[in-house]
Amino acid sequence: MRRLMVFGFLLAFALSGSSVWAQPNFVVIFCDDLGYGDLSCFGHPTIKTPHLDRMAHEGQKWTNFYVGASVCTPSRAALMTGRLPIRNGMMSAKRRVLFPNSNGGLPAEEKTIAEYLKTKSYATAAIGKWHLGHLPQYLPPNHGFDDYWGIPYSNDMDSQKGFPNYRTEARKDPNYFAPIEQYQVPIVHNLQEVEKPANQHTITQRYTDRAVQFIRDHQNEPFFVYLAHNLPHIPLYAGEKFLGNSPRGIYGDVVQEIDHGVGQILQTLRDLKLDEKTLVVFTSDNGPWLPFETHGGSAGLLREGKGTTFEGGMREPTIFWWPGTLQPGVQSEMGATMDLLPTFCSLAGVKPDPDRVLDGYDLSGLIRGETQTSPRDRVFYWREEELYAVRYGHYKLHFITSGCYGIGPAKEVLEKPELYNLSVDPSEKYNIAAENEEVVKFLTGVAHEHRKSLQPVENQLEK
Ligand code: MG
Repeated sequence: MRRLMVFGFLLAFALSGSSVWAQPNFVVIFCDDLGYGDLSCFGHPTIKTPHLDRMAHEGQKWTNFYVGASVCTPSRAALMTGRLPIRNGMMSAKRRVLFPNSNGGLPAEEKTIAEYLKTKSYATAAIGKWHLGHLPQYLPPNHGFDDYWGIPYSNDMDSQKGFPNYRTEARKDPNYFAPIEQYQVPIVHNLQEVEKPANQHTITQRYTDRAVQFIRDHQNEPFFVYLAHNLPHIPLYAGEKFLGNSPRGIYGDVVQEIDHGVGQILQTLRDLKLDEKTLVVFTSDNGPWLPFETHGGSAGLLREGKGTTFEGGMREPTIFWWPGTLQPGVQSEMGATMDLLPTFCSLAGVKPDPDRVLDGYDLSGLIRGETQTSPRDRVFYWREEELYAVRYGHYKLHFITSGCYGIGPAKEVLEKPELYNLSVDPSEKYNIAAENEEVVKFLTGVAHEHRKSLQPVENQLEK
């Protein structure tokens, strides 16, 4: 009798909610060049994102969430491996990202989120932009993904001659879109090219449809979907139903189409009764590409954008959603895309290999509400192959500053580092280094210790 009662109790406990769900599903929706200020729930006045707003309302809006680098390739390497890209050769001063003529990519010895989750029999899909190497050995099927469908590098690559200059046209018309033939970017399914040039007018909806289908097909097993939209990176394209909808111009149409897709994915999870078993994270790879003016996004109150180590380059509009587990609200503790690997591993019961340095922190305690404090107390802002700045707590110290490539301001190795208190001055306007010598000294020491943890590696972007 007693045994039966114990069994009954255990059964009730096992069925009582998502907190005891052994293997939650994970969905990461990763945008390209979306700025901190580009969603209505992050303050945009004319872009309407009702589905992301609802996601934030039901989940958590993260206001201090970072990426590992301010441009595509290294940022994606950081998310996928939980490591700063300086550790695996995925950042360079000569070529900041991978190009169609690159021979490098994410090294085979790096272990991705998907590879870790495969050890617990997760079904894994990568949909959208990869940008961690387009040669077969670097593509998602060789990095732990069962299925891949998307573009292998940026949507503005393999640009053809004889077409109008995008920047010039974009400046003239906030609704401009380029002929798709201008960019000979292929769609690759697993290791095979299946479309060239990619029809970018329909690509956002097709990514969403594939994510929805994958979730439906794998509803009875744990899954990980990495959905990396290649928009709103320029050139901008929106589906017919979305073109002309937003007073913000085509940039707004694009973001609203992505928002619509997020709504479809979350609704699929609700319909399949997987919402309480699935952690969904929405964020972006880097800040807005400001030289494209109205065709680039907005970092809101944050300084600068893509390519820079100011907050606008590396702090992203982020939403976590996991009904029944996450306490809804605004999360102002620090987090980063690099934290997803250790966090997902922890939630799935996987132990990351002890033989490699991880730069990510396990946020599972914060997600479950067991603690109110993030284990992440610092952020390292790398650009090219140099440490430009460090954040510890509220303080951020810049050693080197530089604007977006092409438009400046030019790189400056600061004679005296600049200190900002990001809690009272999120726009990095008021340098308080002179008044806070002890803080400057402490952060300089944190940076020094961090640099000592690095080993030289082969550069993948220069191959
Ligand atoms: Mg990007």
